[in-house]
Amino acid sequence: MMRIFDTQAGNVVELQLPESGPVRLYTCGITPYDAAHLGHAAVYVTFDVLARHLERHGSATRCVRNVTDVDDDILRKARELGTHYLDLAAMEIAQFDRDMDALGVRRPASEPRATSAISEILSLVQDLYESGHAYEVDGWVYFAVESEPSFGSVSHLDRATMISLARERGGDPDDPRKRDPLDFVLWQPSLPDEPAWESRFGPGRPGWHIECSALALRELGPVVDIHGGGSDLIFPHHECEAAQSRAVTGGPFVRYWVHVGMVRLDGVKMSKSLGNLVFVRDVLKEVGPEVVRLALLSQHYRSSWDWTPRLLDEAQERLERWRRAGEGDGAVEEVDAALDDDLDTPGALEAIDRAARSGRGVSAAAAMLGVAL
Ligand SMILES: [Zn+2]
Repeated sequence: MMRIFDTQAGNVVELQLPESGPVRLYTCGITPYDAAHLGHAAVYVTFDVLARHLERHGSATRCVRNVTDVDDDILRKARELGTHYLDLAAMEIAQFDRDMDALGVRRPASEPRATSAISEILSLVQDLYESGHAYEVDGWVYFAVESEPSFGSVSHLDRATMISLARERGGDPDDPRKRDPLDFVLWQPSLPDEPAWESRFGPGRPGWHIECSALALRELGPVVDIHGGGSDLIFPHHECEAAQSRAVTGGPFVRYWVHVGMVRLDGVKMSKSLGNLVFVRDVLKEVGPEVVRLALLSQHYRSSWDWTPRLLDEAQERLERWRRAGEGDGAVEEVDAALDDDLDTPGALEAIDRAARSGRGVSAAAAMLGVAL
């Protein structure tokens, strides 16, 4: 039985999988306006290892990873470049796919784009509006957090922290149209040079959080078994996504929330705004993709950790050690047990090292981590 840390429970829990049908996995995908960095790679490699592990234990998986191809960031970047936002998206998605393919991250069953779901988004916004969970001011439609008592149950943050994180992460708590600073945008009027879709609230475009609710509900139905993403998405993105989805379905929406820690550079979280990103494609020019994958797996998914070139050197040595050990099924059981224990990939790597040092072949165990020797 696999155990995994569920953010909502605040604890490591036993993963109870559906008795029939595939495990429904939803991971928040990229906004395709810039290249994938190591923080992205850490998230998608983690969920790739998780899906492979579940499948080995007999569970089919259905993995969905959205593409946020309309939001403030991509529209701003397209404006700066003087290009159409969907052309920018197409270019960045192609690069992202090349990077993830190289790292051995298998493609999801479905990679739906936000712009493919405008009618579903509008139908959700309408439901929320008519049931009193949302209100409209000057063409802006907001979700009223007061209307959903479970708001706060994913992140467990206090109100002051929520307001401060919302301010930091684009939630605009100071917007004077809002009844409550934590209310969030479901639909907004478009600027003159932005894409706009007709709606009963006037021409506009969706807010960010509602995109993931609409796509998860469309692609997976009312319940997602495992919903993943980086830990910076816990608030506000996942809190808001959960609240509005529960307000529509009345059900739990997500059974397990699994979040991946942040990758830092010199102690500071890699982020676009700070300009301290290390891009996957640049690292791949220096070392082989298996080395990058092993370097990422050498850190536990839940911790936040510093990227250093030393990790690549260690991963390179490790890969050579495993290749020298060659074919065989050494450490297979230990790797399985380590992954069952909250996806302990550092423990799995050490078990394979021990087997390789004792002269056993380790190709099968390496394959369990998606590493071909
Ligand atoms: Zn999302």
